[in-house]
Amino acid sequence: MGYAVEIDNLTKRFGDFIAVDQINLTVETGEIFGFLGANGAGKTTAIRMLCGLLLPTSGNGIVNGFDIYKEPEKIKKSIGYMSQKFSLYKDLTGEENLWFYGSVYQIPSGDLRKRIDELSESLDLKEFINRLAGSLPVGWRQRLALAVSLLHRPKILFLDEPTAGVDPVFRRRFWEILYRLAEEGTTLFVTTHYMDEAEFCQRISIMHQGKIIELGNPQELIKKYQHPTLQDLFIHLISGKRTNE
Ligand code: ATP
Repeated sequence: MGYAVEIDNLTKRFGDFIAVDQINLTVETGEIFGFLGANGAGKTTAIRMLCGLLLPTSGNGIVNGFDIYKEPEKIKKSIGYMSQKFSLYKDLTGEENLWFYGSVYQIPSGDLRKRIDELSESLDLKEFINRLAGSLPVGWRQRLALAVSLLHRPKILFLDEPTAGVDPVFRRRFWEILYRLAEEGTTLFVTTHYMDEAEFCQRISIMHQGKIIELGNPQELIKKYQHPTLQDLFIHLISGKRTNE
């Protein structure tokens, strides 16, 4: 399978308002793709359609080979979704949270035990897995949430601002883990407002008012527009659009 995500003119309207406006995109299996845009650009709405959580108004989408209209349940089983507000149970320990979500995914207990140990090792959870989730610093909590989203071995992981509010050291560690996942073949579809993180992506798209206004490799885009940094380019593209409107 070549593409993890294929989107063709995907559109979502809420009444008269167009939140996602005819976007086109393909993401290759194993790619780290950065889905960027200003607040309210339509990123979360697009991701929710791709995860089988929200029905599009029009257009087409295939995720992991499954149709977003006809096979949302198959999509949900084959993807992981980690949002900024992912709710871990604060009065359960990390380990208890993993057991709880593992049983929601109906992973048999023997397999689940092995999987939790594996994730604890690879995501470096050991030093805090037995502490209450509510007592953990946000960086550790997000790592735990990442482990939950990986329990069922998804082929694609959708990460919606996974490092919002996380300090730079924890963010770097989080991205080292994402890189390793990609090396192991997981496709990563990530939104972030941190441009240093966007530069870790193989390709990015920049979305503004529901439309994808630019798409490509971060370094090539910087060169194309001759801006010193991705942040300058992002601001140029978004504010340029705003003043033109
Ligand atoms: P952020 O970076 O702030 O998370 P975003 O790019 O993820 O923003 P969305 O959350 O997709 O943006 O929202 C896009 C637009 O669609 C916003 O103007 C939002 O208010 C609107 N919107 C989202 N969901 C609904 C809904 N259920 N009903 C009406 N409008 C909605």
